Amino acid sequence: MAKLSPILKQATPVVAARGEGVQLFDEDGRRYLDFTAGIGVTSTGHSHPKVVEATQRQIANLVHGQYTTVKHRPLLDLVDRLGPVLPDGLDSLFFANSGSEAAEAAIRLARHATGRPNIVVFHGGFHGRTVAAASMTTSGTKFRAGFSPLMAGVVVSPFPDAPHFGWPQEQATEFALRQLDYTLQTQSAPADTAAFLVEPVLGEGGYVPADRAFLDGLRERADRHGILLIIDEVQTGFGRTGEFWGHDHFGSRPDIIMTAKGLASGFPLSAIAASEELMSKAWPGSQGGTYGANAVACAAALATLDVIEEEGLVKNAAERGAELRSALEQVAGKHEAITDVRGLGLMLGNEFRTPDGEPDGATAAAVQQEAAKRGLLLLTCGAWGQVVRFIPALVVDSAEVEEAAGLWAQSVDAVLG
Ligand code: PMP
Repeated sequence: MAKLSPILKQATPVVAARGEGVQLFDEDGRRYLDFTAGIGVTSTGHSHPKVVEATQRQIANLVHGQYTTVKHRPLLDLVDRLGPVLPDGLDSLFFANSGSEAAEAAIRLARHATGRPNIVVFHGGFHGRTVAAASMTTSGTKFRAGFSPLMAGVVVSPFPDAPHFGWPQEQATEFALRQLDYTLQTQSAPADTAAFLVEPVLGEGGYVPADRAFLDGLRERADRHGILLIIDEVQTGFGRTGEFWGHDHFGSRPDIIMTAKGLASGFPLSAIAASEELMSKAWPGSQGGTYGANAVACAAALATLDVIEEEGLVKNAAERGAELRSALEQVAGKHEAITDVRGLGLMLGNEFRTPDGEPDGATAAAVQQEAAKRGLLLLTCGAWGQVVRFIPALVVDSAEVEEAAGLWAQSVDAVLG
């Protein structure tokens, strides 16, 4: 009898049969509140009627067109439709299937465009699991240990992770920028550095927002040295943080952005965007793939953009996020083990620490499992698995936020007493 690989250890025994908005139903009809949204992929909620209708219609017309040979209507429409939401000047798009592939595409473009080998990444960053993406991922050794040699040319510099160090944000940012200058002086000379690659909010690394001074500092150094600034919006994009892009909170100006997850409501689609001038420096044949810009995924993305706009989901993420945050802070106020509630919009994390201040992945996992038993699905993150994160679909309403917060309070009480 065939079995799922044991590597796919599930945090819960739930077998999902049906989804509707923020709710999942298992095979026995039991209802769960899904505050994982498949790590944020279902921005519009499970099986949003508009996404269902658009993709069904597309399947009946055309599923696949080899986009490096023929274009197709959903792809052309998607490019048009993305225009107004893309950061200023980034009007040229390339499509792939996953966030990891977007990372590969972005760094390949950066190396081709600059002729330089190195990518500077920031501690705690997650950019995917392909070998190149894992080589740039430092949100936990589990993502990279044991399959060296990793890709060469990756240099890691500190992220301004104030909660990790227990420092004020200003101090963490000053440290990170000084260390970056040190890195550029000692390890990766500017003339060897193609790009900085950074998340506006560390995702897998523990839901730690960057700040304006840090991203301004990256921009300033990028401009000074001819280095490209790549912002990974795979988890933070498409309204997740209460702004359309995570970096909008900080007024940053990326040269390349990567997006996936929220882009197509769960269909496999990712993209990078850059200026046409930069994109034209990619070497012919270097970017492509069989399934990139799949027509059904493009139709899903078009419907997703319509739903985000029509239902005001970016604003909803900000407003429901504020409600959820204050409920989570109340729970944290009652338990010393939860030392921090942080994040932006509907991307919120609760940090667990032991009484002597060490990151506490065991308690975080116990609370996650207790919550699942009570019908609330959550994910952990952070290098020690010490953060329980809330990342519901952007269609979540106040009643669902309240229900989830109630289940969370019960679960934390049950584990911590
Ligand atoms: N970048 C970020 C910021 C992510 O959160 C992820 C996925 N968690 C990826 C890249 C990789 O995306 P994928 O799993 O689609 O390859």
